[in-house]
Amino acid sequence: MSITERDKKYVAGTYNRFPVEIASGSGSVVYDTAGKRYIDLGSGIGVTAFGIADPLWQQAVTRQIGLVQHMSNLYYTGPCVDLAEMLCTRTGMSKVFFSNSGAEANECAIKVARKYQAEHKGPECSTIVTLKNSFHGRTLTTLAATGQDHYHELFTPLTPGFLSVDPDFTELPDPDRVAAILIECIQGEGGVIPLPQDTVRRIADYAAAHDILLMVDEVQTGNGRTGALYAYMNYGIHPDVVSTAKGLAGGLPLGATLLSEKVSGTLGFGDHGSTFGGNPVSCAAALSVLSRIDDSLLASVREKGQYLMDSFMDAPGVESVSGMGLMIGIKCRRNAGDVVREALSKGVLCLTAKDRVRLLPALNIPMDILKEAVDILKECIAG
Ligand SMILES: *Cc1c(COP(=O)(O)O)cnc(C)c1O
Repeated sequence: MSITERDKKYVAGTYNRFPVEIASGSGSVVYDTAGKRYIDLGSGIGVTAFGIADPLWQQAVTRQIGLVQHMSNLYYTGPCVDLAEMLCTRTGMSKVFFSNSGAEANECAIKVARKYQAEHKGPECSTIVTLKNSFHGRTLTTLAATGQDHYHELFTPLTPGFLSVDPDFTELPDPDRVAAILIECIQGEGGVIPLPQDTVRRIADYAAAHDILLMVDEVQTGNGRTGALYAYMNYGIHPDVVSTAKGLAGGLPLGATLLSEKVSGTLGFGDHGSTFGGNPVSCAAALSVLSRIDDSLLASVREKGQYLMDSFMDAPGVESVSGMGLMIGIKCRRNAGDVVREALSKGVLCLTAKDRVRLLPALNIPMDILKEAVDILKECIAG
């Protein structure tokens, strides 16, 4: 049987995969089992921050695998504490809880908000406000946080205590009973839609005025993706809680929930935990990734992002371009899915988000490879 047939037979049918089996790669180029070359503008949905099989990343991972690949959280391991220190130093946050995915990083944020407010404003103050068109994960609680009804259908009842409001945030929700507001600065799955500066300011002011926690979901936008270490830094806000995952460990599972001074004492012994959370190999990978996201890399992310904006802005068949840094959404006259399928056949991997073509290339994609992919993609968009 072919891999397509065996996948259909044995793997739960949750993914509508393209008929391509990726066998290997190097940086921003991957090869399928037939040897066909593709330029990767999706990086595993913003995960492989420094591309496929990056040598420095591999070194960090294999070194740690040779030392200790896992230890329970009953004992200390160096990479976990080193990474927590690096994250706090680089963000000004105070403490970190490690998990394995974006959804789990958000689950932790929600638990922190509920417990913090139970101890401050009272246990009835438990509502988490999120924005319509948001995406926060696939667990039943993070689905409840996700402000898109079509993800909810047939999975009810979801975790209660969530309210999703219009993303322009002009109608302020009744602050009574609100524990926290959780936002993505750029709605990723929602179509690569950056929140305007004044909207984010309004949300931050509303939170501050009512002692509501401001929580930012940086699962997709974090770790250099937008040209800042975290996207909230583009907005001059100081969140109480930040969740991140995807690109953090460059291709290994790792989620992190960053806690500001204000909420840093909320979680105590036994309040939360994770068997794999803070795994030394994932943390060693993340230390390697984060230590390379310096000012010069961030400047190059902004430059390449601007190059993508300029390239597509007035290109034939393009209606509009949105995004920030190397997180770009292109609204095309053609159907986005058709564009992505044609790009695949011409050797370029890219993504969709709602009705847009979405690009999340590796942060270090070489300019010549990026240009090659842009030319191909422009042809596909022009139709
Ligand atoms: C991908 C994503 C998630 C979910 O992350 P998983 O690792 O798939 O659980 C949550 N929030 C945002 C903004 C995301 O982009």
